[in-house]
Amino acid sequence: MNFGTAGPRLCQHRDIYLTFDDGPNLSCTPDVLDLLAQHRIPATFCVIGAYAADQPKLIERMVAEGHEVANHTMTHPDLSRCGSDEVQREIFGTNRIIQTACAEAKVRHVRAPYGIWTEEVFAVSARAGLAALHWSVDPKDWARPGVDAIVDAVLTSIQPGSIVLLHDGVPPAESAGCSNAQSRDQTLMALSRLIPALHDRKFVFSSLPQRH
Ligand SMILES: [Zn+2]
Repeated sequence: MNFGTAGPRLCQHRDIYLTFDDGPNLSCTPDVLDLLAQHRIPATFCVIGAYAADQPKLIERMVAEGHEVANHTMTHPDLSRCGSDEVQREIFGTNRIIQTACAEAKVRHVRAPYGIWTEEVFAVSARAGLAALHWSVDPKDWARPGVDAIVDAVLTSIQPGSIVLLHDGVPPAESAGCSNAQSRDQTLMALSRLIPALHDRKFVFSSLPQRH
């Protein structure tokens, strides 16, 4: 970004971006959406295609409430271990499912599972019309470190422009034997404390910028 000619808005901007991975999940996602709606905050949901296929209503709700839906692959594999065909299926298939669930969804971003990117993943993503979306603040909420730990990790590292990684679901490979609702209760609690705390610090929850 060129700050040299930035207008007042850009100079003062304190935009931050919330992202939620590994949903949609019937036990967790509605609670996250309710909380965001209560505070009128937009977020980006990086959804797993296989889950989106089962929960099209949640995709519709995300879009209707002003959130962005991003591609987080069909089955959440480590893409660096996938063959070319598989990478294509994982990425293109998820785009199709999101569009089927909600024709108005504009899928602009892809987030690679585990943040593992390869040249091939970048190339296939570009062919699918998707920009790579990583993150800059990771409180590791998926490991359930405790609500205080999640809140502290975000507050100590956040700065203008930060992309915060949180989770409203559990990937297929990790979902065996744990209750979904319980697995993300800390994330929800932490979020309910983070929103006012970040507002107090004059951060502005924003939608990801449009590409040019
Ligand atoms: Zn993930």
